[in-house]
Amino acid sequence: MTRPIGSQDERTSFLRGSVLEPEVVRHRSAPAESIEPIPLVDLRMQHAAIADVIAAGWADVIDRSAFILGDEVPAFEQSFATFCGVRHCVGVGSGTDALEFVLRAVEIGPGDEVIVPTNSFVASASAVARTGATPVLADVDPSSLLIDPREVHERRTSKTKAVLAVHLFGQVAPMELLRQAVDDEVKLIEDAAQAHGARRNGVGAGSLGAAAATSFYPGKNLGAYGDAGAALTNDGEIARRVTMLRDHGSEIKYQHPDLGFNSRLDTLQAVVLSAKLRSLRTWNEQRREAAVRYTELLQGSDKIVPPAVLPGNEHVWHLYVVRVPQRDVVLERLHQAGIGAGIHYPTPIHLQGAFEYLGHRPGDFPVAEQASKEILSLPLYPGITVEQQERVVSELRKAVP
Ligand SMILES: *Cc1c(COP(=O)(O)O)cnc(C)c1O
Repeated sequence: MTRPIGSQDERTSFLRGSVLEPEVVRHRSAPAESIEPIPLVDLRMQHAAIADVIAAGWADVIDRSAFILGDEVPAFEQSFATFCGVRHCVGVGSGTDALEFVLRAVEIGPGDEVIVPTNSFVASASAVARTGATPVLADVDPSSLLIDPREVHERRTSKTKAVLAVHLFGQVAPMELLRQAVDDEVKLIEDAAQAHGARRNGVGAGSLGAAAATSFYPGKNLGAYGDAGAALTNDGEIARRVTMLRDHGSEIKYQHPDLGFNSRLDTLQAVVLSAKLRSLRTWNEQRREAAVRYTELLQGSDKIVPPAVLPGNEHVWHLYVVRVPQRDVVLERLHQAGIGAGIHYPTPIHLQGAFEYLGHRPGDFPVAEQASKEILSLPLYPGITVEQQERVVSELRKAVP
């Protein structure tokens, strides 16, 4: 059993090597040889379905030496824009770069404030900091764990330029309430890294604000074979600016009216993303079926709280996050039983060393802090079997004190 490539855990390092190490397996009560560990994310089935298309596509790119901004890049951008229901998609090197470029493109910089939920991947806040603006953190809704519009309303100031609506775990933040929470000139920017194909009241993630950023980190619903990301917008000027930012501030070769970066979507990654995009709806549907099955299997437990879906949301289940008492004990027991559960995220952004300069202390965001001690992400990926899910839930029930 190989470690799943690029699972969320590679980055958060929760499971790094743990569930799959022989020592751990040996400690299980059942005979080690008879039961395969169940990883948090298993990307092998997806690869098997498209391996031939990718091999042929890559051979073609290599043949043409079209590594940088080859024709496959605009072809993918066009099809992903259509998939998301927006006019423009601009492929870049990572989701974090996409966030930074989108923020810069709406002219956010030093002296500005951007409201960001404290329960997110750190990049939601670091992208803001990288523009020179100040991330103003906000607590989350206790049931959905999405950014809380009341908190946003309380934390807005005359310097607030944008709200970063993070569509966490695969469901869209309540955009219409966020809109009401701030003045009209404040921009809503979407962090749609976990929400490929998600909808709110029928409208697609990525098309609900002034602009959106998304990530194609390998473990995301639509994942590349390395780092990749994109900006999404209906605004031609924002798209033009991101296109310049990703390519040294240039539109015409060797002319650089602005400072920029080197962060283009690789042609080889565009081949992978186009191949996977064709199956994304099917794979999202498989995630949804698996999520429904987990919720059914968890019925009758008064200690395991299943995830909440906001009314109006079509969730794409990037992560299936339950809440349990004594989470760290439960997680340890699951790992010993070969179940690759994870935590998204164990430390809220306001308690990360990188954001110490914001001056927060424990207790500042009680909802996110409490959640960070209870949340547990269960294995979920297209192709997870009923038997695997039954085993996860049976081990989870045994593990909860
Ligand atoms: C993955 C992720 C990012 C960052 O994307 P990268 O491609 O890894 O830079 C940003 N925000 C959220 C919510 C994410 O899940």
